[in-house]
Amino acid sequence: MSKIYNLGIIGGGVSGAVMALQSAKYGIDSILFEQKESVVSGPPFCHLHAGGNLYPDISDEQCRILMEQSIDMAKLFPQSIDERPTFISIPKTEKYETKVIENRLKMLVEHYKKLIAKDPSNEILGEPDAYYKLYNEEDLLALKELGTTKLPDSTDQWMSNTLQLIDIEKLKLPVFIVQEFGWNLFRLGAQAQLALDKGEKCELKLNCAVIDIKDVRTENVEHNWEIFTKDATYKVRYLVNSCGFKTGIIDESLHLESNRLIEFKAAYVSKWKPIAGLIPELIFHGERGTPHGMAQLTPYCGDYYQLHGMTRDITLFEGGLVKSKNNEVQPEFNSAITQRISGNWEASEVGTRTENAIELVAQFVPTFQSATVGGPPMYGAQQIPGDDPDLRVGEVSFPSRSYARSEIVKASSALTVANQIIAKIQEEDLLSANDVQLDPNFIFIDIPKRDIDQLASALAVQRGYPEPMSRLVISKN
Ligand SMILES: Cc1cc2nc3c(=O)[nH]c(=O)nc-3n(C[C@H](O)[C@H](O)[C@H](O)COP(=O)(O)OP(=O)(O)OC[C@H]3O[C@@H](n4cnc5c(N)ncnc54)[C@H](O)[C@@H]3O)c2cc1C
Repeated sequence: MSKIYNLGIIGGGVSGAVMALQSAKYGIDSILFEQKESVVSGPPFCHLHAGGNLYPDISDEQCRILMEQSIDMAKLFPQSIDERPTFISIPKTEKYETKVIENRLKMLVEHYKKLIAKDPSNEILGEPDAYYKLYNEEDLLALKELGTTKLPDSTDQWMSNTLQLIDIEKLKLPVFIVQEFGWNLFRLGAQAQLALDKGEKCELKLNCAVIDIKDVRTENVEHNWEIFTKDATYKVRYLVNSCGFKTGIIDESLHLESNRLIEFKAAYVSKWKPIAGLIPELIFHGERGTPHGMAQLTPYCGDYYQLHGMTRDITLFEGGLVKSKNNEVQPEFNSAITQRISGNWEASEVGTRTENAIELVAQFVPTFQSATVGGPPMYGAQQIPGDDPDLRVGEVSFPSRSYARSEIVKASSALTVANQIIAKIQEEDLLSANDVQLDPNFIFIDIPKRDIDQLASALAVQRGYPEPMSRLVISKN
């Protein structure tokens, strides 16, 4: 008789990979299918949303959830976290009020204190009272005199470095420095891949697309699902659909109804002249989808910067947000977007959109005008369950017995979703209590830094990005 796996996971993005790692920690064996050649190769991420400060429009509750989930993910993947802060500002032309940002930050400090009281190991964003610092005109005038520090180690030094480059006249005051860190996807992918290779509980099938699923729950056999690939059939008891923006395809093959939005977006890689000292990630808020949407500059090693501009000629696209139509579970993009998803970008479009992004940032950082295209775009489609395009926290749903559908919006939700699925598996009594137990000696997430460095570097190159983008600007031992 062929093997029966307790868990079958379809899709090895951040959600599926974390699901496999977390279930191994609970002693649950799994098989993970990923159609590409490495895990975590879906849409990009660069920002740990530990407070949701890039989204002035979302609820306080979503901000608290993002903070909590981000802390959990940072503890799991410490070598992927770049501990440089984020500068948050509102241009004078924009409707947002600095008071709203400030009130929310105060709320987040209190929430962070509660998380630390619950578990002291949650203190990974620094001391709660230093979670953010606001700067008024007087502070800024004094700080500018401080000049540039090559490797800043205080919030004031980060701010002073920023001040040497930005046009503060364009911004409402106060401006803020917040402890929302960078998040390196090559390093997370490397750690996940190495941990999966090292562990014995998960069988990883790369370059292996799932083409169909058969529901055998009523057939009085020991398994519930049969998963078909081109060459073989696999039997599993519990099914996890973590196919990213393609979750609807699995639902369709199971004849389940659901609705969702899918959104295609892209960020751009630019190269700038060497600057005298490190800078935080820079955020200049603006109304999403308008020509002055948010500008975001994310520093990487080697003078590379990732750029987002929440306008239709930079990060967002005509036809880029699509929702399920009547009788259609999986929304479809138009052919121009589908072409980009499969990597077929016109070189001229990469140039134009990267230049547009440089232009947007240069409004606030005038010398950034000299930056040039530094690599291919970082792009992908993501899913948003339901019909609210402003939703930013992850969702898991259990539409049917022994079936979970993960639809995370931000990478930070992956661990929460995995834990919810494990709780559901326990609740369903599918496995005996002995089969689902946290292993206190579970160590395989402890992958040596040099191995992560090596694989992250190889992944960046293999995917066509500059190798320095696989390193942290604030390196860790
Ligand atoms: C431009 C952009 C910037 C972003 N920035 C951030 C950020 O800064 N911070 C943040 O937290 N989030 C960010 N996100 C969101 C983040 O990228 C997603 O939330 C996250 O990657 C989703 O992970 P996932 O595992 O659910 O899906 P995916 O990463 O899409 O993984 C799904 C996987 O399933 C595989 N698959 C699909 N169908 C099959 C099949 N039939 N058989 C086998 N394999 C299959 C796919 O190949 C894919 O690898 C950003 C998204 C975009 C588009």
